Amino acid sequence: MNTKGTTRVRFAPSPTGMLHVGGARTAIYNWAFARATGGTFVLRIEDTDPERSTEENTQIILRAMRWLGLDWDEGPEVGGDYGPYFQMQRMDTYTAALETLKERGAAYPCFCTKEELDAKREAAGEAYSGYDRTCRNLSPEEAQARIDAGESHVWRLKVPENHGPIEFIDAVYGHMSFPAEVMDDMILVRSDGSPTYNFAVVCDDVNMAITHVIRGDDHLSNTPRQVLIYEALGAPIPTFAHLSMILGSDGKKLSKRHGATSVEEYKDAGYLSDCMVNFLALLGWSLDGETTIIDRETLCREFSLERVTKKDAVFDEAKLDWMNGQYIQALGPQNWVEASRPWLARAHAAGYPYVQSALVPTPEQGEERVRDALNEEQLAAFDDSYRANPAFYEALYPLVAERETTLNEAEDKLAYMFWGPAVLLDEASVNKVLRKEGARADEALRACRDVLADESIPWSCDPLQDACKALCEPLDIKPKNLFQPLRVAVCGNMVSPPLFESIELMKREDVLARIDFALSEVFGG
Ligand code: GLU
Repeated sequence: MNTKGTTRVRFAPSPTGMLHVGGARTAIYNWAFARATGGTFVLRIEDTDPERSTEENTQIILRAMRWLGLDWDEGPEVGGDYGPYFQMQRMDTYTAALETLKERGAAYPCFCTKEELDAKREAAGEAYSGYDRTCRNLSPEEAQARIDAGESHVWRLKVPENHGPIEFIDAVYGHMSFPAEVMDDMILVRSDGSPTYNFAVVCDDVNMAITHVIRGDDHLSNTPRQVLIYEALGAPIPTFAHLSMILGSDGKKLSKRHGATSVEEYKDAGYLSDCMVNFLALLGWSLDGETTIIDRETLCREFSLERVTKKDAVFDEAKLDWMNGQYIQALGPQNWVEASRPWLARAHAAGYPYVQSALVPTPEQGEERVRDALNEEQLAAFDDSYRANPAFYEALYPLVAERETTLNEAEDKLAYMFWGPAVLLDEASVNKVLRKEGARADEALRACRDVLADESIPWSCDPLQDACKALCEPLDIKPKNLFQPLRVAVCGNMVSPPLFESIELMKREDVLARIDFALSEVFGG
């Protein structure tokens, strides 16, 4: 099946909304199959629904495809020998295909009005089995006369009598067979001249020389109809591969109810595109039944339709989070800073004014700032800051790499690194740690302050930590009761990234100013 270099596959989204995870998985399978077989991956935009298709949605889909790194060999913006790649620009090809069908006696005009059809459907009730073929029996002369008289009509497929079962090969479902007797003489071209979905999709797949149609199994029921159209056109029938449904962890079809469903939402929440491709690829395909971390190169080398299952796939958010964490740990400092740009830029922007003015923000002000929408100016300010001090940003990576599930966590988790001499004190942490009865947090803070103010101790994680720890014995205080108050005073809360690793990256005067602030704010001096 995987003949080198001759496979042509396509991803054919309708730009009626975002790129959802189901569509993204379909795109990934087509892309990986093309790469694994040395074939061609075509992107075709099915924009024939004028009411729901928008240019904006097309752009969103292209953007999501690019973010996922699913490069297409032919399609919008890259062109190709089989274009155009927007259905609306291919109307002449549908007209030509209809001409072929007319010549072959495989299509006929139907003049039945909507009212007539509705009445027939209603009269038949449960027993309705499709169009009753009234117009199929019109003589060619009569049909032509009515067309010439300008009577409104559609074009229908003349399903052959005594066809026998409709058969096709599905790489996932195996050999498929459907009875032809139940097939309606479906509409191919509407009265306004526009092609129906089934007709357009077959015309395109034929004209674009598609060899494998890989798509969601919501299209499985269309396939026997489409096979009839291929046959009527005298075109070879491609291999199909229908992909199972994606379910939420509750076993129900994945939908908005389960949270994020569009690729862009995952991007905005700080998932890595390499992780998304890996995770989505495993929703219905496996390398060997056990490997979970699979990079693009392996996927593009090893992907095969034989290993696609027809079992419904379950979108397990917890697994995705775990996997994203694995990818973050594998990034390394520089890639992490680059991938975290929007969130680090926001943390940087939120901290900047305080560093400048040394004002102590009230929590309300701070929160508002953090939620400000990121603008170009802030991104540019971050870029300048990163360029000026890459070592600082890269040193933030080990503070969070182990524990981060999504990149966006950096914004909140590392915000304190950008506050200079001021800190936002988390009220719950203040109450639980600094105001803890009998814990002598003020004493602990003053003692630590003296150590941190001592310039004879190198400003570096271990010596500072050792020197503070040495206070426990003379003060008769548990390490926890020494370090937690310091953590709250310096980082603002009791669950921050590692304390002395953070302190090492800060300026001594800022750390001392934060301790002084906590002492005055909580203990009055
Ligand atoms: N445009 C169709 C859709 O978005 C896909 C058609 C196909 O893959 O055959 O569902």
